[in-house]
Amino acid sequence: MSAVESQGSNGLQPAVFLDRDGVLNQERGYLHTLEDLELISGAAEAVRRLNERGLFTVLVSNQSGPARGYYPLEHVEALHRRLAMLLKTEADAWLDRVLFAPTLGPDEGGTQAGYSYWSAWRKPNTGMLVAAAWRFDIDLRQSFMVGDKATDVDLARNAGCRGILVETGFGTQVRTGQYQYRVEPDYLASDLSKAVDWILGH
Ligand SMILES: [Mg+2]
Repeated sequence: MSAVESQGSNGLQPAVFLDRDGVLNQERGYLHTLEDLELISGAAEAVRRLNERGLFTVLVSNQSGPARGYYPLEHVEALHRRLAMLLKTEADAWLDRVLFAPTLGPDEGGTQAGYSYWSAWRKPNTGMLVAAAWRFDIDLRQSFMVGDKATDVDLARNAGCRGILVETGFGTQVRTGQYQYRVEPDYLASDLSKAVDWILGH
């Protein structure tokens, strides 16, 4: 089924928004070298199942490394080229769009000129989802957000999507209250593959 065929009666399409670290690739903190980015087992195959269904798939990621002075913006873009290559190589899968927020307010640790300001794009603010919805005719109420942090589930709530917490990355610690804070996702999935099972059931 194509994306066009999956459009609803309002002419808008559903989308699946995916967090990056701890959902697609192993959570290893800030990825200072490209080789630090390694896929979680089964993640590429899960993305391919979304592609096959014609579901518009968008990466939405907080990447404050440039604002903190850890590495330049070009490094984040190089990481995303590697991510795309790994998805393609492993399962012939792709992301329809890659969005990320490289900014951070000075009160939160932003130090670098040009990147140190509050932005509506930084999760759990809804900027990335709203921008994608406007640009690609997405119905957020029919869409899904998959993440491993409480802030990803809050983002889903804030944007009116269904929020799925995966237990990879920080997910298990979020579920038990050891990291960030407890949240009540619409669905708790052991990993992205299980999350996609639930999404495709809707
Ligand atoms: Mg994450």
